[in-house]
Amino acid sequence: MNPYSTQFIQDDDIASVINALQSPTLTQGEQTELFERELAEYLGVKYVLVFNSATSALYCSYKAHALKDSEVITTPISFVATCNMLLENGAKPIFCDIKSDGNINEDKISSLITPRTRAIVSVDYAGKSVEVDTLRQIAHKHNLAFISDSSHSFGGEYKGEKIGTLADSTIFSFHALKPITTAEGGALATNDEEIYNQAKLIRSHGVVKKTLWNTEVQSSGFNFRLSDIASALGRSQLKKIDTFIAQREKIAQFYNEVFEGNPYFDTLSIPSYIKSTRHLYPILLSQSLWCSKEDIFTELQNAGLGVQVHYKPIHLYSLYSPHTPLYNAENFYKAELSIPCHQKMSLEDAKNTSQIILDILSKYKGCKR
Ligand SMILES: *Cc1c(COP(=O)(O)O)cnc(C)c1O
Repeated sequence: MNPYSTQFIQDDDIASVINALQSPTLTQGEQTELFERELAEYLGVKYVLVFNSATSALYCSYKAHALKDSEVITTPISFVATCNMLLENGAKPIFCDIKSDGNINEDKISSLITPRTRAIVSVDYAGKSVEVDTLRQIAHKHNLAFISDSSHSFGGEYKGEKIGTLADSTIFSFHALKPITTAEGGALATNDEEIYNQAKLIRSHGVVKKTLWNTEVQSSGFNFRLSDIASALGRSQLKKIDTFIAQREKIAQFYNEVFEGNPYFDTLSIPSYIKSTRHLYPILLSQSLWCSKEDIFTELQNAGLGVQVHYKPIHLYSLYSPHTPLYNAENFYKAELSIPCHQKMSLEDAKNTSQIILDILSKYKGCKR
């Protein structure tokens, strides 16, 4: 089975983990400190905190931005954690419809702003940055925090600047299927010292060290720390992020060429001022094939392609419904399939994959309207 995404673990990663296992500290220690420093250096950002998941990084970022009892404008096309962590913070997600690339439609945000709105939370869908300049302008004009769930886009860029330096807070995921991995893990990047300090407190019980054994508890908190074993894996993976992205870009470029002008689906285009991480390679089935999507999905899976759908729009989950329709998000969901695109694939794999997809789709004649 060739999955839509997978980790790529090599000998140096294994050596790095073994080394950490043999060191005196297994929990958050020197490896974690070095991982955070190297991440901050790579991104060009003042502060980085690593967490045991992007979900906990989201939780602490929202908490640091004090979103309780506020409304937060966000996208329905994300993994549900983006919104669940808003609920856990006592904030109300306000869903904004998307554009044809799966990212939040910045033109529709202003009409959703109320006196209770306190933040915009966007997602760099599939690894392609949102329109940062516009989002920043809106956030600035209305005095809102701009928080970026960049779980897909670690290593990506917008107008020559790294994702992670552009929003007030940026969250990354190091889950196994994300651009680099620590098995489970995540990070918060920010230039804001206050956000950094707050999030750091909540990450570890709200405890600060005083002298010797003496500590103080400044807030309630959790254990959301990343272990040194995971951090050691992250440090080794970090060295390879640019070659990982380059390989996925090669696969994506190949797909773009072979799929050009095909009658079954569209692909997403990336403007030259955005460097996508190509975390996902989504194809958007033409409307006449939507009714066959379950059959197409099953047939592709049976042919060894681990395709997936990203995402069921969050406002359609029972926890978040009923909700007024968001037509672009719902149509995107009907159309979207993520096909294999990852750093472990060769061009030969991409060639086989594309052939299987085109062969299978050619059997579907479309649906009666
Ligand atoms: C993967 C993902 C998350 C959650 O990441 P974890 O590290 O698994 O907690 C959150 N948001 C988005 C957009 C994701 O893709």
